[in-house]
Amino acid sequence: MQATQLPQQAIRGLRRVTAGIQASDGDGVNLTRMIGGPELNMLDPFLLFDVFESDRPDDYIGGFPAHPHRGFETVTYLLAGRLRHRDSAGHEGVIEPGDVQWMTAGRGIVHSEMPEQENGLLQGFQLWVNLPAREKMCAPAYQEFSAEDLAVAYEPGGIQVRIIAGRSDGGLTGPVINHHVSPLFMDISLPAGQTFEQGVDAGDNAFVYVIDGAVAVGTPERDLESRELGILQHGERVRLRAQRAARFLLVAAQPLREPVARGGPFVMNTPEEVMQAFEDYRNNQFKDQ
Ligand code: MN
Repeated sequence: MQATQLPQQAIRGLRRVTAGIQASDGDGVNLTRMIGGPELNMLDPFLLFDVFESDRPDDYIGGFPAHPHRGFETVTYLLAGRLRHRDSAGHEGVIEPGDVQWMTAGRGIVHSEMPEQENGLLQGFQLWVNLPAREKMCAPAYQEFSAEDLAVAYEPGGIQVRIIAGRSDGGLTGPVINHHVSPLFMDISLPAGQTFEQGVDAGDNAFVYVIDGAVAVGTPERDLESRELGILQHGERVRLRAQRAARFLLVAAQPLREPVARGGPFVMNTPEEVMQAFEDYRNNQFKDQ
């Protein structure tokens, strides 16, 4: 007779690796588009993932002057530098290192995102998270947290986990609330040789972006290097081992599995809804939100 075995939880392997494409957006901001370009159009519900990292003012000084959004959420997470955010409803603030702004554009906002610096390093991320059809025309809203508002888990071996959204295995929960896709968004620092494990809903789409260092993903291990994004296979657990001291983002969420119609800053379910968004924007329907 064989001993009864506990069910093995599937460790997620690497499904695909990309280094993204160099892109320019806003007023000449140079960035790397990891998700949202022709090579990797989306990873449901993630519509876009941009990485910006430069100490050359020419790469970022133009910023993102006034532009609209409708139908999804934009998440800005900053590691270095300062970004001033201002919208058409008078909402304004400065995003500083370690801060996160999770903005629900809903039926529409017009905003600008401008560097609050003339030199030095600007480094951070912007993620676009889709909204379900029934929520695309909801009222705009902000969830803004400074670095000290984030939950930070300190685990044995010098592992540090900053939790923006979702729940760590140790029971700490990040401040961002999103019941539509229940996202997980963690910023993990891992000393060389240490292993990080985290439970993830088996059917969620998930990716790892390596900010610094290198990690080995899954079993058997596959390497993911600095400035690479790895899409993970489905499964209940993520396991990452630092080959060199590493810092990386782990991001996951439930896919929406709805039709996606994109038109620049508008992401809806049908082309007609995108046309309507352009028309509403032309008619200043976004201004008095
Ligand atoms: Mn924007």
